[in-house]
Amino acid sequence: MVDYVVFGRNSFNQLGDIIKTHRKPNQPFVFLIDHFFEKNDQVQICNRLPILAHDAIIFADVTHEPKTSYVDQLANDLKQKFESISGIVGIGGGSTLDLTKAVSLMFTNPGSAVDYQGWDLVKKPGVYKVGIPTLSGTGSEVSRTTVLTGPTKKLGMNSDFTPFNQIILDPELIKNVPADQRFYTGMDCYIHCIESLEGHFLNAFSKSYGEKALAMCQNIFLHKKHWDNESDELLMMASYFGGMSIAYSQVGVAHAISYGLSYLLGTKHGIGNCIVMNHLEEYYPAAVQEFKAMLKHNHISLPQQITAHLTNADIQTMLQVSFGLKPLWENALGKEWESIMTPAKLETLYRRL
Ligand code: NAD
Ligand code: ZN
Repeated sequence: MVDYVVFGRNSFNQLGDIIKTHRKPNQPFVFLIDHFFEKNDQVQICNRLPILAHDAIIFADVTHEPKTSYVDQLANDLKQKFESISGIVGIGGGSTLDLTKAVSLMFTNPGSAVDYQGWDLVKKPGVYKVGIPTLSGTGSEVSRTTVLTGPTKKLGMNSDFTPFNQIILDPELIKNVPADQRFYTGMDCYIHCIESLEGHFLNAFSKSYGEKALAMCQNIFLHKKHWDNESDELLMMASYFGGMSIAYSQVGVAHAISYGLSYLLGTKHGIGNCIVMNHLEEYYPAAVQEFKAMLKHNHISLPQQITAHLTNADIQTMLQVSFGLKPLWENALGKEWESIMTPAKLETLYRRL
């Protein structure tokens, strides 16, 4: 779990005080910031950073979702430049938060990020890491994984050393997110809740967090007439609770299929989940109806037929990535999942997207 959590409007201003006690002599702090804020810094992130002379600012290129090669490049550049660092502060959406966690781990663990894609392969704690979300929904701020696309698979570095040491949840930082991006990342949280609550791995821990997060998503994406400050606060907490819910259970069908899309087509996680969820009536009937109502309420129209041009070989690649995610299928469909989700059935689903 995350060691320390600060929540509140303008709590970002506490960053300097928070990291002060973690500064080591002659060891800089690195600020890894979503490249969006290089040119669009309406919330004044860059000029409020508690920078000291030897600290470094790096703008994270999140045009594509994080790749193991990019993590290696960032970590190796930093290691060449600085022998050691006091810590790393990640400020951005799920992609930047995941990069931050991965770079922290690769600063202290040998080899390539590829070597750690899996469960409990990381053996040493990373450098001190702080996460500050500027988009809410992925739950990356609380999770014990960092999702990376490698040469052969899209899989996280899942470990006890992966969670942040500190997070700062400041709803002021997400207030200007465009409505479509807010919806896609917000629906990631909604889908985490559905997949956790309707999964076989459900337990009292996951249920407690999942039900609360689900109610907050329903409130802001379905019942509220206008988006307001409270909506940002609720979405930020829903993301946290949704992340906590899946920490002790697992995601399900939408994620298992969406990972294949993302691997082959580079479809972003949030929108990819939405495209898939829209076709999952058979697996989550009530939730898919509710999801469609949310699309309507928020005036979102999803891309159609994104797999229409794909070859058989492309579809097979997606099947391979998706079937590789066994825990997700088992959570969604039970131990006998292979007899339910056959290759032919999954192919039909992919072709429908
Ligand atoms: P993202 O981080 O990929 O960002 C999407 C876009 O929004 C980017 O162009 C970014 O520059 C921009 N952006 C960021 N903050 C903004 C702001 N305040 N205003 C306007 N634009 C802003 O999007 P995401 O949905 O937050 O994250 C998706 C990533 O999270 C994927 O890589 C996915 O695999 C990962 N993920 C991780 C976990 C986990 O537990 N580690 C869980 C779910 C998803
Ligand atoms: Zn997700």
